[in-house]
Amino acid sequence: MPAGTATTLVGIGASAGIAIGRAWLLDRRKVRTPKRRLGPDEVEPDLARLRTAFEVSDLQLEEVRRKVAGAERRGASDHAAIIDMHRLMLKDEMLVLEAQRLVREERINAEWAVRRAIRKIKGAFADDADEYFKERRADVDFVGERVIKNLLGQAVDADEAPPEGAIVVAHDLSPSDTALLLHDRKVGGFVTDSGAKTSHTAIVARALEVPAVVATGRITDVASRGDWVVVDGGRGVVVVNPTAGERADYEVARERFRERELDLLSTRDLPASTLDDVTVRLAGNIEFAEEVPSLLSHGGEAVGLYRTEFLYLQRDRLPTEEEHYEEYRRVLEALAPRPVTIRTFDLGGDKLPAALRTPAENPALGLRAIRYCLRQPDLFRDQLRALLRASVHGTLRIMFPMISGVAELRAAKRILIDVREELRRAGVEVPLPPVGIMIELPSAALIADRLALESDFFSIGTNDLIQYALGIDRQDKEVAYLYKPLHLAVLRMLRAIGQAAAAAGIPFSMCGEMAGEPMNVLVLLGLGVTELSMNGPSIPLVKRVIRAARAEDGRLLLDRLLALTAADDIEREVRTEMSRRFGGLLEHDAQVGPVSG
Ligand code: PEP
Ligand code: MG
Repeated sequence: MPAGTATTLVGIGASAGIAIGRAWLLDRRKVRTPKRRLGPDEVEPDLARLRTAFEVSDLQLEEVRRKVAGAERRGASDHAAIIDMHRLMLKDEMLVLEAQRLVREERINAEWAVRRAIRKIKGAFADDADEYFKERRADVDFVGERVIKNLLGQAVDADEAPPEGAIVVAHDLSPSDTALLLHDRKVGGFVTDSGAKTSHTAIVARALEVPAVVATGRITDVASRGDWVVVDGGRGVVVVNPTAGERADYEVARERFRERELDLLSTRDLPASTLDDVTVRLAGNIEFAEEVPSLLSHGGEAVGLYRTEFLYLQRDRLPTEEEHYEEYRRVLEALAPRPVTIRTFDLGGDKLPAALRTPAENPALGLRAIRYCLRQPDLFRDQLRALLRASVHGTLRIMFPMISGVAELRAAKRILIDVREELRRAGVEVPLPPVGIMIELPSAALIADRLALESDFFSIGTNDLIQYALGIDRQDKEVAYLYKPLHLAVLRMLRAIGQAAAAAGIPFSMCGEMAGEPMNVLVLLGLGVTELSMNGPSIPLVKRVIRAARAEDGRLLLDRLLALTAADDIEREVRTEMSRRFGGLLEHDAQVGPVSG
């Protein structure tokens, strides 16, 4: 890259914040695998090489794990869990026995045998698999590369550590790369060619609050070691070799971001109460128990949505009842006496391994969430048993996803009561926790008054409710422009749900992305929400806006909005009102946009 030429790339903003530093390139390209046929007396020596390479790989990962566990940093247990998963892969029969078989029966060299075994395992994940399975394929690759490098005698973890504040640039990063990079040094940011919002790098970067942009496509072609790089993790923008002017602008933006974060944290422990004394509980959405410290440090007062399917997705196999129990207990104890709303598995469609999947034309409309659990009662009962057992360690609320009508709610509750009875017979006496539902389907919104009579609370999953109400796939970029949380149809449904909850006297929460958008605060207050659940880092700003607002103004605004028709007009009215009242607070967040994923 000639000096002085700035290149701007746009990727996916994986972790907010601005970092400016020197590029530190990690070469993680695949090794070339030598391929040859073995002579009869070469088979045994290659089997021995194979054994050694697996053992050495395991020892290396053990060492990485030890370093990570010793690093008292948030996110360390995420790393440790991923490394444990890689160590399990190293012992997987599909890998070990298949590689041995290829050496023995097809007489191919050990490196080639490992490469072919890896390809076979990856083939089990469909090509059109969702992001989660793409990530698991990447894990299989990382493990395979390590074994092959060890067979070839190439260094695996021997890279010198990047200097503090460096921007790590890579095609992709393995979880152990990420762990090593972070364990004793604070890198400034990450930028990768590939990756997704749910990739490990993204998850770990968010947990550690390190700015990151993934899926830039070609950062490794554009940046060289030592180049200046700006990472704008909020907008997903990367500038390589910024001009002096650009750099100065980003320095100012970075300072403003930091000051703003600090300033917002200063009101962290105050209640989210409006000027006219309406208090809303601000809760967090979590996917992993490890996110709890970050949630609490941002002033989270509860867990409003624990997406338990990640327990399964993280492990790549169904958790045992004990594993469920231990996780729930951890979260409940960390929050106690504050409430924790645990959503039962929202699995199904593509969120299942190929072997368990039934082909579906429209997975989002298929056998998922509560439908899947009712179809697989054993899996559901294991989770419910663990939830009930864990309930004594804190304040648990159980929530069922994707309820379409009373029949499903009743069926799910019957199973819960039956499981409780079974526990009682076994000598474990537990009270029944509050049982609520997610309102994510238009059918549920339209009969919210009836569902309210049989639910202890409602939580609106706007991510799905909007997708089903407006008929747009929330993952599909092509129709993202239609994703309008303030569409009149959505507002009408939200108001009906709120009125049904109020009439039945049950708490009314919202946990979709719409809840964490500060621009929506007045609308949400107008709807009468009692709890808003969002990503931990979104809480401080939402709290600040609530504290500067009046719920009565929200109600008046909502009435005005419901008299309008076009979504654009509604959005404009909201923006005008919000910037008139809270201009200074919202200047960085001026968007009422589609959900990101
Ligand atoms: C939602 O649909 O709004 C929700 C919170 O659930 P998820 O995003 O996990 O589908
Ligand atoms: Mg949902």
